[in-house]
Amino acid sequence: MDIQPVLQQIPAAGAEALEAIRIQYLGQNGTLTAQMKELGKLDAETRKARGAELNVLKTELAAAISTRKEQLETEALNAKLANEAIDVTLPADPTYGGRIHPITAAMEDIAAALRSLGFTHAYGPEVETDDYNFTKLNLPEHHPARQDQDTFYLNPFNDEGSRYLLRTQTSNVQVRTLEGVKPPFRVMGIGRVYRRDYDLTHTPQFHQVEGMMVDSGTTFAHMRGVLSEFLRLYFGKPLKTRMRPHYFPFTEPSAEMDVECHMCRGAGCRVCKQTGWLEVLGCGMVHRNVLAVGGLDVSEVQGFAFGAGVERLAMLKYGISDLRLFYESHSAFLRQFGKPPVSAA
Ligand SMILES: [Zn+2]
Repeated sequence: MDIQPVLQQIPAAGAEALEAIRIQYLGQNGTLTAQMKELGKLDAETRKARGAELNVLKTELAAAISTRKEQLETEALNAKLANEAIDVTLPADPTYGGRIHPITAAMEDIAAALRSLGFTHAYGPEVETDDYNFTKLNLPEHHPARQDQDTFYLNPFNDEGSRYLLRTQTSNVQVRTLEGVKPPFRVMGIGRVYRRDYDLTHTPQFHQVEGMMVDSGTTFAHMRGVLSEFLRLYFGKPLKTRMRPHYFPFTEPSAEMDVECHMCRGAGCRVCKQTGWLEVLGCGMVHRNVLAVGGLDVSEVQGFAFGAGVERLAMLKYGISDLRLFYESHSAFLRQFGKPPVSAA
């Protein structure tokens, strides 16, 4: 038999054609295989000669197929490598560096504004006693205002029989300052506080900023001036402020302070709920009973104190309407509102 035509086809055959040729000649029912099977019918002499002849053909064909197969495999591999090669000259996917969380950024902005007004940092523990969180702030046991702050109580009592709790307000910093520092002073406390509350606008842990100034001759007018300036610095533009009478147990008189909406400048928008004003902080002249904790007499020194929610100040500044976004760690949100670290661009 003449295998020359097929030997010529092999070098150009694709993988499928090559397999077809292999089956056609060398498969179980292939032409060459069939002829080998026929050998048994021949006489010994002829069989020997024919067998040798067929073996040569078979070897030649198998070698040609195998060579072509290797060639095809090499080509396939090269094609695959070429396809999957990385073009190092292509621009990279965007990567995002870390950013300062909007709450941290707000705390930094608040602290910077207050520092420029002469306030220094003061600290108080987050695990506090009933005494420092309430009683010494003119909130004796059974005072109805205690009900407003759903407190996380911890079991043990201290040596004086005061119960431990997670502080519900940063005002404990005021008490500790009054006990330990002689006036005149201006201090700020910024940190975590805890209340048993969880819904759209409340989380069990949030942040407050607290400030207190005590000096001789401090008046309500000083308070208004300092707080207006603080809000101007925090929001980064001059804004009108107004005060409304309010009640806090640790200040007398007390007020709530509103600032002109920095988004619409008082015209009314989504952030200020069309009122043109934003409620931002509570304040008042330090109550004589609280000053007395530090052995101070209201006839000699006076002071004012104020407090605000950091989350609220951040929401107002950045126009964020859902408190929970701060704590869900969505990178798209944080990229949008977080500040780049100072060292980055
Ligand atoms: Zn507005």
